[in-house]
Amino acid sequence: MKLKDKVAIVTGGASGIGRATAILFAREGAAVVVADIDAAGAASAAEEIVASGGRAVPVTADVSDDDDCARIVATATDTFGHLHVLFNNAGIIRRADALGITVAEWDLVMAVNVRSVFLMCRHAIPAMTSGGAIVNTGSGWGLKGGGNALSYCASKAAVVNMTRALAIDHAKAGIRVNSVNPGDTDTPMLREEARQLSEKWTAFAADAADRPMGRAGSPDEIARAVLFLASEDASYITGSALVVDGGGLA
Ligand code: NAD
Repeated sequence: MKLKDKVAIVTGGASGIGRATAILFAREGAAVVVADIDAAGAASAAEEIVASGGRAVPVTADVSDDDDCARIVATATDTFGHLHVLFNNAGIIRRADALGITVAEWDLVMAVNVRSVFLMCRHAIPAMTSGGAIVNTGSGWGLKGGGNALSYCASKAAVVNMTRALAIDHAKAGIRVNSVNPGDTDTPMLREEARQLSEKWTAFAADAADRPMGRAGSPDEIARAVLFLASEDASYITGSALVVDGGGLA
């Protein structure tokens, strides 16, 4: 029960890494606000938590929108009385280089992946009146380059460095801010990417050249790293970029 009596927000909680983390947070004692633009997915994640005896409430929201971010935080404080943990995880990818991406698509990736972190933090931090922990989802591609994903690489590098700046600004308020940086993780996002790249999933997942461990990670393996950063086990860790990628970056 590493998050006993804590209140947590998970964005992108309908699917993949966010869903696995929302379920794990609840199992560890947290009341969870599951926020996602996918209303049905957020509702089903919250239902799954409640059905197994946990506490959760879904919120349909676009994390690139300021009013929606305010509403996510208000849902946490109105429903559960407080806020301790924020997992900024919602994200999108567009596979295109500088010649292939439109200005509108560039702006969309930046709004969903980067502006959302700023917006969620500016509403959540004032609600963390007794300190707290923020975990932002970066990516291996925020720490090294990646082919044919210019906007995504830029956005995730921004998330990694925003995390450091936020950590410095809010350390004295007892708020720790870290990024978790997954390598390829078996979620709907990665499967869609593999489909778009016309690669067979098994070949994609097992490509040992990019993955020393010879497999993609599971959402639960990322969730356990997020739980660590969100919990008191990481009480002296802030501003760090934790890589969870089976040795890919190495
Ligand atoms: P996913 O597509 O399964 O889940 C992402 C969730 O974010 C979805 O439920 C989606 O509806 C939600 N979302 C998208 N736009 C939103 C918006 N504007 N407002 C609210 N919710 C929105 O993908 P995932 O693989 O679980 O990705 C989670 C995070 O992990 C992302 O930030 C992604 O960039 C990052 N990541 C994933 C991988 C991977 O290999 N899967 C690797 C590195 C980083």
